[in-house]
Amino acid sequence: MKILSVNAGSSSLKFTLIELPSEEVIASGVFEKIGMDGSFYTIKYNGEKIRKEKSLNDHSVAVSCLMEDLVELHVLNNLDEIEGVGHRILHGGQEFSESLILNEDIIKEISKYNELGPLHNPANLMGAMAFMKALPNVVQVGVFDTAFHSSMSEREFLYPVPYSWYEKYGVRKYGFHGTSHRYIDKTMREYLQKDDAKIISCHIGNGASVTAIDSGKVVDTSMGFTPLAGVMMGTRSGDIDPSIIPFVMNKTNMSCEEVINCLNKESGLLGVSCLSSDSRDIEDAMEQNNEKAILAQDIYTQRIANYVAMYNNLLNGADAIVFTAGVGENSSQVRKTVCEKIKSLGVELDLEKNNCRGEFRLISKDDSKIAVYILPTNEELMIALDTMELINKK
Ligand code: AMP
Repeated sequence: MKILSVNAGSSSLKFTLIELPSEEVIASGVFEKIGMDGSFYTIKYNGEKIRKEKSLNDHSVAVSCLMEDLVELHVLNNLDEIEGVGHRILHGGQEFSESLILNEDIIKEISKYNELGPLHNPANLMGAMAFMKALPNVVQVGVFDTAFHSSMSEREFLYPVPYSWYEKYGVRKYGFHGTSHRYIDKTMREYLQKDDAKIISCHIGNGASVTAIDSGKVVDTSMGFTPLAGVMMGTRSGDIDPSIIPFVMNKTNMSCEEVINCLNKESGLLGVSCLSSDSRDIEDAMEQNNEKAILAQDIYTQRIANYVAMYNNLLNGADAIVFTAGVGENSSQVRKTVCEKIKSLGVELDLEKNNCRGEFRLISKDDSKIAVYILPTNEELMIALDTMELINKK
């Protein structure tokens, strides 16, 4: 069964065509600068990569190009071979706690939550609509970034603010990166052959979140009402005192929106280092003894370590700590520093095993009290598997 896994952003559209159940990636690619000058796309297939510059006015044009090229490049004999399309959707609010088959009415319902994810949700839904138009007889599935976190209890998801904010406006912790954390949890429980495993999943990419999972259910996660909360990230601050916002508004004459934008896009590693949001640049600068880069990395790793220690307590002792996403999979230095900062939990990293990139492996010593792993995430596969499951249930 061939399934397309899609992640539509406001000016981009990423896709992976996956054969199931073999999990083979048949083709993948990205359309960039949709609706802008200089739009182009790349498609990888069969060991080859093509790049085409083409005017892409909107997501529908991108989807049409993709459909034409998949047949022209002989990736597919015809479009009927695509049995389902799975779409990543950022926010499903409280209502959408599982993946589901999309139709126009459901898309309208989901769009109620656009105000909770204004940068992503409208684009995710626009992508889904474009595929519904191009492939009207194919099952389209929505997979929500928030869904895996819906198992959190009120104790974890409620903020200590007036209860009416929750009742009237839905102010609560939702959590994000759910599809990635779900993949990590599923793979680890299968690997450990332990259905009731307690996992601390550290998704450390440009965006970052740490999640505590017990027996396949999220107990708590570091992101909150929006993806701005939790650990320090590439450009996001993570947790700060909210009183900073009106204080800085007064001092700078910035609007609330401008300050929030600054906390989302100019803070984190970039904000403290005054250099870059990319951990590779930070590590290069640290080698040159750049003090701000050293400080940025120190805060960054400390905040991850603090969440891991807090979640180990919440889980009453975890079985495994798992690093994933761009930084988690690739930066041996970030993993090493985080593990040094949780030594009190009895974590003992094996420096030799840790000296690797992007592969699933155990990186702690045999006598480490908690096992530490690297596991490359695979959200595209998770989206495709959910799509297959819903097709098979139909
Ligand atoms: P993601 O959001 O998961 O795609 O992660 C992107 C981030 O991963 C980049 O901003 C880098 O900070 C980080 N990254 C990617 N490759 C490496 C590497 N080889 N070493 C350290 N960090 C890396």
